[in-house]
Amino acid sequence: MKDILNYIGGKWVPAQGGETFANVNPHSGETLCQVAKSNTLDVSAAIASAQSVQESWMAKTAVERGDMGRAITVGMEQRKEEIASIVAEESGKIFDHAMGETQAAIEMGYFIAGEGRRNYGKTMEASMANRQVLTVRQPLGIAALIIASNTPIANVTWKAFPSMFCGNVSIMKPSEDTPGTAAIFAEICHEAGLPAGVFNVVQGLGADVGPALVSAPEVDLVSFTGGHKTGSVINRIAGERLAKVCLELGGKNALVVCDDADLDLAAKWIIASSFSNAGQRCAAASRIIAFSGIYDALREKVLSAMKNLKLGVEPGDDLGPVINQRQLDNMLSAIEGAKAEGADISAGGSRSAVHPGFYMEPTLIENVSAEASISQNELFGPITCLYKVESLDEAIALANNSEFGLTASIHTASLHRSMEYSRRVRTGVVVVNGGTHGSEPHMGFGGLKNSGTGWREAGAEALDVYSDWKYINLIHSPEKI
Ligand code: NDP
Repeated sequence: MKDILNYIGGKWVPAQGGETFANVNPHSGETLCQVAKSNTLDVSAAIASAQSVQESWMAKTAVERGDMGRAITVGMEQRKEEIASIVAEESGKIFDHAMGETQAAIEMGYFIAGEGRRNYGKTMEASMANRQVLTVRQPLGIAALIIASNTPIANVTWKAFPSMFCGNVSIMKPSEDTPGTAAIFAEICHEAGLPAGVFNVVQGLGADVGPALVSAPEVDLVSFTGGHKTGSVINRIAGERLAKVCLELGGKNALVVCDDADLDLAAKWIIASSFSNAGQRCAAASRIIAFSGIYDALREKVLSAMKNLKLGVEPGDDLGPVINQRQLDNMLSAIEGAKAEGADISAGGSRSAVHPGFYMEPTLIENVSAEASISQNELFGPITCLYKVESLDEAIALANNSEFGLTASIHTASLHRSMEYSRRVRTGVVVVNGGTHGSEPHMGFGGLKNSGTGWREAGAEALDVYSDWKYINLIHSPEKI
């Protein structure tokens, strides 16, 4: 992989301080390339570049901006394998999975491009004669887009496309662990003819770049995907100056299996929701809640499926490494903590030595209380806990016993149970007889409580994040009022 520079004002530039850091392959632990380690000077340069083009980009019609989004998406399609290779290398994904993620990122581009020919508002009658009100979307200005590493190219497009489509000029700060995906996206924007300055990428460490970006008075919107602790810091800083803030944060998602469920199907979805992408999904199932009557049978099915999971990044493997040593260490210490509190580690529980990188064994934990820290804290790895309940009421109470509220799933043959669970579980997304993950570009996505601040990204709902409504009052015969 070639060294990665910042993309500011349509040019590739090194960090002004001249510093770099290593982009590491989490599968092998090897350095892939060096990356610009930016500081506040680079943030200021990106803001100046965005400001210089703000008026002209805002002045384009929604159809023109949608067409530009389509051209970028076509460019992504043409370089799909190259994008997927970068995703696979820097996030430690199996190539086929990286291709799946890249295709989903491309679909987001087409979906938002189509909004160019919709971009609907409303018309309203007023209480007085000769007055009509139109609602139209208006851009916000400069958008800071800060993203996590887990699905790197999807995370780029979920923010970049709706932001530019709505008429904003954007500055993206990718995760330090996955700088290459934002860089290739910027390259494709350039090739597609996106005007210089409309989309900028400032690479670097969160602590160096993040606060400068979030506190800058010129930044009108901060759209962040990441952990709730970082989100809370960002909210405080941006809230101080009353900037709009969209936070898409973590989850501790519950998958309930009732005593009337198809247990093979439930076990299949538990494996997929808990361990795919090495559990690094905001929507991963990290709490499996089983009715006592089927607990043992379900446990056996899950444990036997876990024995067949293959770690690695070759075709046919099931899960790769976690993103870095720090995340791996967090998981290992959380497991030690759970053991000290009396938990049973029924499978996994250790670092895997099968490859040199940051591999965590798929782990199943039992005999933990709902209040234990392993039940409450998001680990963002292939670790899930299994709980026993006697009734749907108990299952719902346990599912809701969390500071997060992102997604939830229930397995049951009963329409009533599925509706009751869907109504009472405190999350933004519910799935009946499936996994806890699986969002699509046209579906809004987001959560309650510590999982977010109420916005929905993806779907037409994403436009509400990246634009604001203007109410235009047309008084077309003023003399008659
Ligand atoms: P972090 O919160 O650690 O980092 C997210 C981003 O914020 C990174 O780009 C990071 O940079 C940056 N950052 C770090 N510190 C600051 C700061 N002080 N100011 C501004 N930006 C900063 O999250 P992770 O990367 O560990 O991602 C995992 C989390 O993301 C999980 O909680 C997961 O659930 C959540 N997530 C939520 C999704 C959703 O849609 N709800 C989707 C995907 C993930 P750097 O990498 O350099 O530290």
